[in-house]
Amino acid sequence: MGLAEYNRKRNFGITREPPGTPPAGRARRQRMFVIQKHAASRLHYDFRLELEGVLKSWSVPKGPSLDPKVKRLAMQTEDHPVSYADFEGIIPKGQYGGGTVLLWDRGTWEPQGDPHKEFAAGNLKFFLKGDKLHGGFALIKLKGRGPRGGDERAWLLIKEKDAETRDEARGSITDQRPESVTTGRTLDQIAADRDHVWHSNRAQLEVADVEGAKPAPLPARLQPPAFTERDAPPSGTGWLHEMEIAGERLLARVEGDAVTLLGADGAPLSKAAAARRKRVAADVRLLPAQGAIVDGVLTAVRPDGHPDADALPGALAGRGKAALTYFVFDLPYLDGHDLRGVPLGQRKALLARLVGRVGEKTCLRLLDHIGGSGLDFHREACRLGIPAMISRQEDGDYQPRARWIRVPCGAPPAGKPASKRKRVSARA
Ligand code: MN
Repeated sequence: MGLAEYNRKRNFGITREPPGTPPAGRARRQRMFVIQKHAASRLHYDFRLELEGVLKSWSVPKGPSLDPKVKRLAMQTEDHPVSYADFEGIIPKGQYGGGTVLLWDRGTWEPQGDPHKEFAAGNLKFFLKGDKLHGGFALIKLKGRGPRGGDERAWLLIKEKDAETRDEARGSITDQRPESVTTGRTLDQIAADRDHVWHSNRAQLEVADVEGAKPAPLPARLQPPAFTERDAPPSGTGWLHEMEIAGERLLARVEGDAVTLLGADGAPLSKAAAARRKRVAADVRLLPAQGAIVDGVLTAVRPDGHPDADALPGALAGRGKAALTYFVFDLPYLDGHDLRGVPLGQRKALLARLVGRVGEKTCLRLLDHIGGSGLDFHREACRLGIPAMISRQEDGDYQPRARWIRVPCGAPPAGKPASKRKRVSARA
């Protein structure tokens, strides 16, 4: 992936899983679509299309319409794992997206052109073969400069003219067919059924097949690698480059339902410091793992998409507009397997799948990386005003001596004193 594309896609508030390859055996199967009616803080319809190994997702506040004159706002949301398509039930209160989910429609979809190109271009046309929805539809990305047009996530969902259209004035499909497509139940009936609660801990990843994964108990204590500062980025190939996130280094250790937060030295935070970060622990608990250690940086992301370490205390206290965000960049242990000897590239791929499973429900985000020239990355990344770039060897292990290189950006970004760029620890 080129740097320009990486930067264009980059939004610190939204990290998508890298496009996965479809699971074996699915290649020739038809693509599925699903619409989940979601009674969260505000009722909406989650419109999801299977593409690039995940469910591309849009939140449609008013739901789909069969009237080509009606354009429905569709806000793009996090990719969801394909396994989420079957879900109908309750997401516990207090979790992101908490509320009741009703499987409103599902079936298969067919792109009219090249779906990858059309999706990237923000003009995706397709046919639906569902129980309630049929015929041609289009998802068009808004590009205007109006109050809505400024939002990169805003699309419109529009019915195309064909034999399946219906005048909205004669009633809406969402009103006429409110029931679940699989069980025929209403939202209230689903909400009353305590047997179908979303347990993200239930679907674990297969780590046993990962080369270098060593069966081992969860370590009580480990020493995380530290960063070595350099003046220049590494030359040559075989490096993964990440942007440094201004914030505090934080690790999280998952053991069953217990989550312990650890500092940069691998030691548990004080009770008070951990208590202030209890939302992070609660979100880490939702990862589909019985035992895990993740490594990352805790920060707050401003509405303009930039991490802001100074806004972290406010975000932890639930004040201010910046969103508490835990960028994770490594996974030294997962479900009965020590991954410290597994190459970094594979650890991050596993981490991407792990974080992808909880998607928009948590404050966890994968810290993305690119390969290629460290010099180019350093120049481009620093131009964006980040404090430093991080380079790590793609086949490197997770040992105290691992070569993790931090290359600061030369001049402080305009308007920001250099002191703001310091790295802080999670001791407070
Ligand atoms: Mn939703």
